[in-house]
Amino acid sequence: MTTTVQNFIAGLWTGDPSYERVNPADPSDLVAVAVSSTGKEAGAAVAAASDAQSGWAGTAPTARGRVLLDAAELLGHRAQEVALDLVREEGKTRTEALGEVRRAADVLRYFGAQGWRATGEVLPSSFPDTMVYTRREALGVVAVVTPWNFPIAIPAWKIAPALVSGNAVVWKPAELTSLTASHLVRSLADAGLPPGVLNLVNGRGSEAGEALVSHPDVAAVSFTGSTDVGLHIHEVAGRRRARVQLEMGGKNAVVVLDDADVARAAATVAAGAFGLTGQACTATSRVYCTPGIIDGFLASLEKSAGEFEPGDGRKDDVRMGPVVSDAQLRTIRGFVEKAKNDGASFLHGADEPDGLFLRPTIVTGAKPTADIVRNEVFGPVVAVLEVPDLDAAIDAVNDSRYGLTAGICTRDLASAQEFAARAKVGVVKVNRPTTGLDLNAPFGGVRDSSTNTYREQGMAAVEFYTWSKTVYLGHDRPG
Ligand code: NAD
Repeated sequence: MTTTVQNFIAGLWTGDPSYERVNPADPSDLVAVAVSSTGKEAGAAVAAASDAQSGWAGTAPTARGRVLLDAAELLGHRAQEVALDLVREEGKTRTEALGEVRRAADVLRYFGAQGWRATGEVLPSSFPDTMVYTRREALGVVAVVTPWNFPIAIPAWKIAPALVSGNAVVWKPAELTSLTASHLVRSLADAGLPPGVLNLVNGRGSEAGEALVSHPDVAAVSFTGSTDVGLHIHEVAGRRRARVQLEMGGKNAVVVLDDADVARAAATVAAGAFGLTGQACTATSRVYCTPGIIDGFLASLEKSAGEFEPGDGRKDDVRMGPVVSDAQLRTIRGFVEKAKNDGASFLHGADEPDGLFLRPTIVTGAKPTADIVRNEVFGPVVAVLEVPDLDAAIDAVNDSRYGLTAGICTRDLASAQEFAARAKVGVVKVNRPTTGLDLNAPFGGVRDSSTNTYREQGMAAVEFYTWSKTVYLGHDRPG
């Protein structure tokens, strides 16, 4: 079944759909036809959000929270249907998609409860008969720009804290995943979100997205996507001093020390590298092994890779879906071909893809300076290199323009702690895959992975969507 996806502006579904999205696992399955917006639609959405924002900010925080909680219930009831659309639209497996939809519902619950929580502070004052307190104020109209790889969870963890804090939102999802985006909007609209408080503008980043982040009435932009686009948005929106939050690319490394359990280390790396088809900002794409374990580790990793044969995510037993698009496949293949030409070897994969199905690829013998070791591939490809010891491994992990997540596999507590202290990344994982995060733990990176100013998820997220005002409340005693 093909679904048409319109924009959602001022509480109405509008626009003529023209952009066709085909299932990456099955070219005969036309999943959705979505509106391809221009600056005109982006402008109309910002105007609708501006009109609605002060009314929404004036609504009791508990009432705002209630809308999010009700939307979570609706999304939960629709989870199977939404997950199937996500599988068809993005390509991930049914288990991955259902997990993501349920995560989005939990995020709405978590931030819905924020309506009942304290948001300011009461402070002691040096002035007599004076109370000092802080209020968290909404920013106004917030633009949310999101990628295709987590098309409902990432938007939920931006939109929910924005809404509960009293902001109005204009959201530009990735063009590839408009249908999944529409499900989140529908749940919030059906839960009673007033018109104009959340607006959906589908279309290309270079048109609708650019117009949105350049709009003078947009007070803040929260973006997740590639580093190049993020840095461009920083310039455009930063020029007018809009608040900007960027979560961007990664080149996440795992260190495997001699004392690690070899089979568990391989399973941890395989889950991080090949789960989600390697299309996660937190995916493992470099591994540094010490000399005593590298041979055993590679043999074990090759075995684990065999468990990730790609297939159509609609089938129950498939553990890895296709690559999302032809363009993404070309990028991944480009990295692999270049590594081949540079003299690297391959233990698994690196063969011809079947449509968009690409087998997990293990690269060995690449130089530390090779493209495949230094740049984000965003596919099921991992490079394994040898390092003499933990010190050298930490230096290699930190020698990157990125700094999102990093992991270590070891049974030695001192090595784990040393790594946690010295790895220059936003999230460290010990004996766990670099992917997979809790919704209540702050998330973000350093260097070119993030603006590294405001974290996402958990209560840290609320800081981005509010500003702090200090109030002095004096009272004169009678007489
Ligand atoms: P992308 O940068 O191409 O697009 C992201 C979003 O930006 C899309 O909605 C796109 O339409 C929009 N966009 C593009 N050009 C724009 C412009 N000029 N102005 C405004 N908006 C514009 O990224 P993608 O291919 O959708 O996603 C993959 C990337 O996202 C990878 O680099 C990955 O690492 C990153 N990512 C990062 C995180 C994180 O939390 N750090 C999470 C998921 C994905």
